[in-house]
Amino acid sequence: SAASEPAETLTVMGGGLVGCLLALYLARHGHSVEVFERRPDLRGSTTVEARSINLALSDRGWRALEGVGIAEAVREVAIPMRGRMMHDAAGQLTFQPYGQAGQAIYSVSRAGLNRRMLDLVEQEPNVRVQFNQRCQHVDVRRRQLELRDETTRETRTVPYQRLFGADGAYSAVRAALQRTDRFNYSQHYLDYGYKELTIEAGPDGSWALEKNALHIWPRGQYMMIALPNLDGSFNCTLYFPYEGPNSFAALQTPAQVRAFFAEHFADALPLMPALETEFFANPTSSLVTVRCFPWTYADDVLLLGDASHAIVPFYGQGMNAGFEDCTVLAELLDRHGNNWEALLREFETSRKPDADAMADLAVYNFHEMRDRVADPRFLLQKKIEGKISAQYPDKWLPLYSQVTFSHLPYAEALANGQAQEQIMQRLMPSITTEADYEQPEVQALVAAEMAQRP
Ligand code: FAD
Repeated sequence: SAASEPAETLTVMGGGLVGCLLALYLARHGHSVEVFERRPDLRGSTTVEARSINLALSDRGWRALEGVGIAEAVREVAIPMRGRMMHDAAGQLTFQPYGQAGQAIYSVSRAGLNRRMLDLVEQEPNVRVQFNQRCQHVDVRRRQLELRDETTRETRTVPYQRLFGADGAYSAVRAALQRTDRFNYSQHYLDYGYKELTIEAGPDGSWALEKNALHIWPRGQYMMIALPNLDGSFNCTLYFPYEGPNSFAALQTPAQVRAFFAEHFADALPLMPALETEFFANPTSSLVTVRCFPWTYADDVLLLGDASHAIVPFYGQGMNAGFEDCTVLAELLDRHGNNWEALLREFETSRKPDADAMADLAVYNFHEMRDRVADPRFLLQKKIEGKISAQYPDKWLPLYSQVTFSHLPYAEALANGQAQEQIMQRLMPSITTEADYEQPEVQALVAAEMAQRP
């Protein structure tokens, strides 16, 4: 068992969301952990947060947080979002619940969550976090790190026993693996970038839009979304082509930005007094999918989180998937103890198909969110799916729910979702209104389809 094995000193590169959670899990399994983080301590009094960036936390993430007993603390500062609130060009609203009554995804502040996790990490006697330590190079054969102290600018070489790369989409640990034999790697950028903007709080910190929803302004080739903050404001993200008629390239002046928003996001514009300033002050950031394999080197290096599987943000699953990596790893630590060889092999082979499936789902949802959610036929299809799911709960869970409100492996969710989509394609030609679902001939078609499902 794990308890009878000698503890090791493990090194975690990156004190971000996944790195912190991983450190907690490793420490709870009896190991000493050292964490190196490039940035200064987020909790430092000098840190001024220019922007509040929010993430949607869902069931997989919650389970991983529960595993180290920190879910309750996070829930106190999380805002439930029970569905999508679509804003059409005329400012008309349509609400589409994400799941059953009581189900929600949760808006949490990225920095707030990271700070909270750093506090917890620091309370672990076996974990030591060192900030301002940038990993510049990893020598996987000698098991050495080259770290640069960002304050003194000095570089030092540090040995490691076992190294966990949780250093994000542009991982330095992964860069070292890329130079090893038979390492597969790909990265793919969307032609879209994103920009963070703000919807101001209303009077007395009230919310100017429905608080318990994720707001979407779907516009076909682009979209804006907004997630609620605790202070009454919303963090907006504009997903927009880099080039073309409606694009970042086309909006060069404050007047152009205002005119564009007045035309396409008219109901949001009055709530965004800092729009032009933010638009030109905030960066335009790119959207990348990274795939690689193996995720290990020998039995002493492992990549987790965005370092092994960076995905585009449209399913709200990047962090959740990284947190789920920790859940999976913890189960393997229970089972394999210090048999790292077996543990690492099983981790990467079992988890890789799920990471790939999630990457595909994330790109798929981009098309759904920016385009299909504005289509009445698509909304009708979703409503019919909801009815099928209510009538046949053991045979049908909507894809979104499988990804967001279940712990089914992502690859299974994707396969189920594709099979269900084919059924919908066969049923929808017989349906023109929600009420049609009750028609005997439609009920017969649905029953016949369900009879064939396991
Ligand atoms: P990171 O959060 O990137 O953390 C990596 C850490 O390593 C950082 O602290 C960094 O400073 C440090 N580091 C990097 N390089 C080095 C180095 N060389 N040396 C030392 N330290 C280093 N996910 C969701 O689940 N829900 C969402 O709603 C969601 N929305 C998103 C919206 C946007 C616009 C984007 C871009 C992403 C979104 N994601 C979302 C994805 C989520 O942000 C990532 O999946 C998650 O942050 C990954 O965590 P990580 O710890 O693996 O990497």
